[in-house]
Amino acid sequence: MSKKELLAKALDWSGFNSLARTAALWNGLIVLNYHRVGDIDGSLFDHELWSASAEDFEQQVHFLSLNFDLIRISDLDHLSNRHRGRHILITFDDGYLDNYEWAFPILKAYNSPATFFLTTGFLDERKVAWWDEIAWMVRSATQNTLPENPWTKTAVSLKPDDCDGSIKTLLSVFKKLPGDKTDDYLNFLAEKTGSGRCPQEIADQVWMTWDMVREMHEAGMDFGGHTVNHPILANHPEEKQRFEIEHCKQRIETEIGQTISAFSYPVGGKDCFDLRTRNCLKQAGYRWGFSYYGGFSRHGIHDQWDIPRIAVESEQPATLFRASVSLPQVFC
Ligand SMILES: [Zn+2]
Repeated sequence: MSKKELLAKALDWSGFNSLARTAALWNGLIVLNYHRVGDIDGSLFDHELWSASAEDFEQQVHFLSLNFDLIRISDLDHLSNRHRGRHILITFDDGYLDNYEWAFPILKAYNSPATFFLTTGFLDERKVAWWDEIAWMVRSATQNTLPENPWTKTAVSLKPDDCDGSIKTLLSVFKKLPGDKTDDYLNFLAEKTGSGRCPQEIADQVWMTWDMVREMHEAGMDFGGHTVNHPILANHPEEKQRFEIEHCKQRIETEIGQTISAFSYPVGGKDCFDLRTRNCLKQAGYRWGFSYYGGFSRHGIHDQWDIPRIAVESEQPATLFRASVSLPQVFC
């Protein structure tokens, strides 16, 4: 158990957390970020993407709805000049089908808004995301080892017991590659793991459909852009960034019949977007850009193109979740 988990547990036992919730020890905005909700259930895809089981998600939404002001994207304008209040924005990235199947009914039941950032190419082309494909190739490998090679520099074990660590290693290599080298890397892994590329029909079961998006939109859920193909934008030239940023906006707006103003950067680390990305967002007509390296906004939003978000992770105990939103100064 980490030091933060121990502290969160101790505070929960002592009753300090319930005091912290009512005593308003912070003001501002916490943006929570989820990816997948539901059971991992032997999936060959990237397990790190699961943010919560359906049961945990329900408990979290219940807790948030009792203690905080759950807001929508359209409320962000008012936050910039509001210095009181504890606001929470629930967000989801990528457009996974389980968001519709598991999270949407729970959000509706608690009358809670949420914003879903969609990778439009995944919905349109029904293809597997690169992180899921890398995980799938490792878990389906017919070889025991990826031999020493120019991409990873050292050999990487493909044995079932080592899968989680090996997937992390191979993903971190992908994230550092120039944009025009990523496909060569995936083809290399397909060959050397012996698994080949992930078949298209598997991807068909992974993503929401546009009919689901429209149903969620009509029920009060918000949508935002997350590119067409989920590249790490800063690794690409400006022209490619512009395409990814503009086309996903047009695609979502055509499907839901309403303009969108928010965008979340794929992967979302400080080095995943740059000045060119911000300019492209401005020119495309977005108003908000969300990052993903932790932190929260005290007393309004300070940088509309870098609104911090906190990851919700499935192995995180309930005590740590409660502590994170009750005392973000300490836990986020
Ligand atoms: Zn993403």
